[in-house]
Amino acid sequence: MRKFIIMGIQGSGKGTQAKLLADDLDLEHISVGDIFRWNVQHHTKLGAQVKRIMASGKLVDDALVEAVVRDRLARHDWNFGFVIDGFPRTARQAEFFLETYDIDGVINLDLPDEDVTRRVLARRLCQQCGMDYNLIAHRPIREGVCDICQGDLVARAEDNPAALAVRVKDYHEETKPLIAIFERKEFVATIDATRSVEEVQSSIRQRFGLPPMKSI
Ligand SMILES: [Zn+2]
Repeated sequence: MRKFIIMGIQGSGKGTQAKLLADDLDLEHISVGDIFRWNVQHHTKLGAQVKRIMASGKLVDDALVEAVVRDRLARHDWNFGFVIDGFPRTARQAEFFLETYDIDGVINLDLPDEDVTRRVLARRLCQQCGMDYNLIAHRPIREGVCDICQGDLVARAEDNPAALAVRVKDYHEETKPLIAIFERKEFVATIDATRSVEEVQSSIRQRFGLPPMKSI
């Protein structure tokens, strides 16, 4: 069984890398963000709780995140292992998690702040169908127009330089102590995330002695 924690700032390609690894090696991709989004979309009790917290401008608190992750892992549908994304978030959660689950390692996607800014500010979203674009990596065929539904492409309100600077700072403050804990107890592979999706994926596999990608 293979169990990984994946960490990386916005724009580092964390979701893409976790998914490639999970799909190819039959691991469960456990993304806290996706679990919350799914619950909001499906109007569950948890979804209503998350929506209420977000509407008040607060962050979903650590206890709720922890409860969701415990519940998800308790399903034991991860016969071949998992890649967890968005957890742990605090030192206490990290200690607990490392004691409870025999983690193979931590994948730490490293992207310099200036690349984060460049990548995130290039993001566009179709107002009509919600398709994601990126003016660097995934350009629409016609500028400002969705390839699929011809809707208008816009930047998300939160993707502005000032808000992003705050998120980058928060990320570093939150992450540093976690990385320190992981480094004491587990193998942390810090991967240069400035490269292409394929190169990053193959570095992750080399660092953990995983088989190469079947297809990409
Ligand atoms: Zn569209």
